[in-house]
Amino acid sequence: MQASSDKPDELFYSTSISLESAQIVLEGQEAIHCAKVLRKKVGDTIWVCDGKYHQYKTRIRHISKNEVFTEISDTLRFDANESDSYPILVIGKLKNKERLEWLIEKAVELGVAEIHLVSSERTERSYLKLERLEAIAVAAMKQSKRVFLPQIIDAHSIEETINAFGEAIPILIAHEKVSGRIDLGQIISKRCVLVVGPEGGFTDAEIEYLSSFPQSSTISLGEWRLRAETAAIHLLSLASFFRL
Ligand code: SAH
Repeated sequence: MQASSDKPDELFYSTSISLESAQIVLEGQEAIHCAKVLRKKVGDTIWVCDGKYHQYKTRIRHISKNEVFTEISDTLRFDANESDSYPILVIGKLKNKERLEWLIEKAVELGVAEIHLVSSERTERSYLKLERLEAIAVAAMKQSKRVFLPQIIDAHSIEETINAFGEAIPILIAHEKVSGRIDLGQIISKRCVLVVGPEGGFTDAEIEYLSSFPQSSTISLGEWRLRAETAAIHLLSLASFFRL
């Protein structure tokens, strides 16, 4: 489907944006995709997003070996508060790379403010390729035409991460060993922290620590044992639904 003049169909991504000179440079995979795969030429119009609520209509001015140089002709500005109500996901580092990559892609599609990958008692030593996860997030943002790119943090301990959020943001801890219900819609429709364990789950001591905060609630997602990424996506889709 050909893009209409004022709305993009195909989006590129760049962080090399100079508003003073109205220039945007596509680099790396973005430049390759533009010049080599899609064979865009000088004079073609392409749309570029910055992951910070802007989409730029640009014209290609020059194509070098590794970069595509464009000039901005129009700018679409989106509501910069859009992600204020998105949840922050804190999840134990998954040892299964494919599952983690799948989770990142779905989380971006559903709307997430930040993704903190934390080490906990039962996380295996996993060497995270943050650059690859960020590329997956960029691809999901472009595909879903979202205007916001969440930050992915290769975090340290769960304690350090949780303490950094302060007391104002509610914390929802998904735990398979609790019962009882809470008014989820009330909490999850606004900015909150969603905490999910790694494949091996949280230890009792970790649950005790996480539950010790006044702004914390532990929630059950039903009596069945979900995979960590399933629990995370379940919560993110609930958050997305309650934001509608
Ligand atoms: N250690 C558990 C499984 C952990 S599943 C066991 O072996 O039984 C990984 C994470 O997914 C958990 O830490 C929890 O955060 C979440 N989770 C899985 N099933 C859940 C459920 N039914 N309710 C709430 N959270 C769940």
